[in-house]
Amino acid sequence: MPLQEKQEYSRAYAKINLTLDVGPRRADGFHEVCMIMQTIRLWDDLWLSLTDGDEVTFTCNVPFLGADDRNIAYRAALLMRERFGLTGGLDIRMEKRIPIAAGLAGGSADTAAVLRGMNKLYGLNLKNSQLMKIGQELGSDVPFCVIGGTCLASGRGEIVQRLPAPMPFAYVVLVKPPFGISTPWSYQMFDQQIITKRPDNQAMEQAIISGDLDQVGREMVNLLEPAALHKFPILTWIEERLRGHGAQGVMMSGSGPTVFALFREKKQAVEALKDLRNVCPKRYQVLFSQILNR
Ligand code: ATP
Repeated sequence: MPLQEKQEYSRAYAKINLTLDVGPRRADGFHEVCMIMQTIRLWDDLWLSLTDGDEVTFTCNVPFLGADDRNIAYRAALLMRERFGLTGGLDIRMEKRIPIAAGLAGGSADTAAVLRGMNKLYGLNLKNSQLMKIGQELGSDVPFCVIGGTCLASGRGEIVQRLPAPMPFAYVVLVKPPFGISTPWSYQMFDQQIITKRPDNQAMEQAIISGDLDQVGREMVNLLEPAALHKFPILTWIEERLRGHGAQGVMMSGSGPTVFALFREKKQAVEALKDLRNVCPKRYQVLFSQILNR
């Protein structure tokens, strides 16, 4: 087969947090986390192909995410080449749809998609566990993004365990405001706050196993959320608006600023989508998605 025809398509799915528990700051400066993460039907497309020459080229519809060390997905390709002595040219094309710096693990998802795509393209036959180990060197959320689905992640997020049952299906409405929330700031604020309600990961796991979406909604707690809501009251306003449409659960994902709502009923989800698109300023992204079990 001519080189140019050897191509792999790889999909990078976003995640939401169903819980996010944070422990005290560790000696290495990082916080221990324990969180339940869930893949959603919102993705970036990646096409990987072998080319003549010996270079890695990377193009993206977001101009600042090219063949640049700041692009974590590009770094993943370089790491795989070095680790497995891969030679020849490689071209990666990425169509980005997951909002950037949103708490949806977009960069980690792209990275995992490059690892999976290169595994196939070069016939490396690496197991998921091996890809997850390599992914860990690139970012804490990458191991989760390699397998996706409904998982409990601990440590810095890199110790990933699939839950015994997948999350019940729900429609997901996401609102991504145009401002960013710095992750170091979130953790700094966390260190100063008094915790009133901790997530109960066991209770969340039980709610998931029972397929009880209302209970899932009640168990949703993110310890990085209070500081964000305090600094950006618009987030509370958006959450209230989403709740008003009958959502089973509403919360901020990861370190934000994206907030999401889970709906059992499609009609309510579509109404929420239309309403939020109507009331939010133009630069807010309001997206429709679904729980995706893999
Ligand atoms: P997480 O939920 O894992 O904290 P996030 O959704 O908050 O991730 P990302 O979209 O992964 O954040 O982006 C975080 C930062 O990483 C951004 O500032 C962005 O410039 C940088 N970045 C590097 N590579 C990528 C990539 N391939 N896609 C998106 N962002 C990237």
